[in-house]
Amino acid sequence: MGKKKGEMIVVSGPSGAGKTTIVKKILKLYPDITFSVSATTRPKRIKEKVEYYFICEKEFKDRIKKNEFVEWEKFYDYYYGTFKSSIDENINAGKSVLLEIDVKGALSIKEIYTDSYLVYIMPPSYNVLIERLKKRQTETKEDLQKRTLRAKMELSLKDQFDYIVINENLNKAIEETSVIIKNILNKEN
Ligand code: 5GP
Repeated sequence: MGKKKGEMIVVSGPSGAGKTTIVKKILKLYPDITFSVSATTRPKRIKEKVEYYFICEKEFKDRIKKNEFVEWEKFYDYYYGTFKSSIDENINAGKSVLLEIDVKGALSIKEIYTDSYLVYIMPPSYNVLIERLKKRQTETKEDLQKRTLRAKMELSLKDQFDYIVINENLNKAIEETSVIIKNILNKEN
């Protein structure tokens, strides 16, 4: 029997839904899962919590041409992409990989890796999402406006996901996500 492949888990949802906080906790709870570090052309924020390869637009476009991304999206004015290498090497070595990417990117991943698992982190309501985005004060007014517009589109795609976790209470959302991940990792192939 061949070696069991790792699982591919995608955590997604609108900006401000709480994905990053939940993902950080999950990675602590499941140290065997590898986080797929994305590339972005977005400038690094002060006290940035998300792990990225920060690259310039020219390099990003070169890497698109070289076919290095399994998926990429232009999210507002910036590019974000998942490297093929960070996924395939791990999966083939039997390691599970977790991606934290936007909703459209998640759906592209599912098309390519049909046995991947998509988890949607959802805010309790659209208004709560907008309040959270405002409170975190990491975006300019213009960026904030773009994110709120995009959130509407992203919310409309939630039914295409395998799991939906409502992040009303953070600890409860972490627990629910953790159960989902545990079941994915323990399932018989
Ligand atoms: P932020 O600027 O807040 O770090 O990220 C903006 C959005 O881009 C978030 O929804 C984040 O999950 C998403 N994102 C991060 N990396 C990737 C990626 O590699 N591909 C795609 N499609 N989205 C990404």
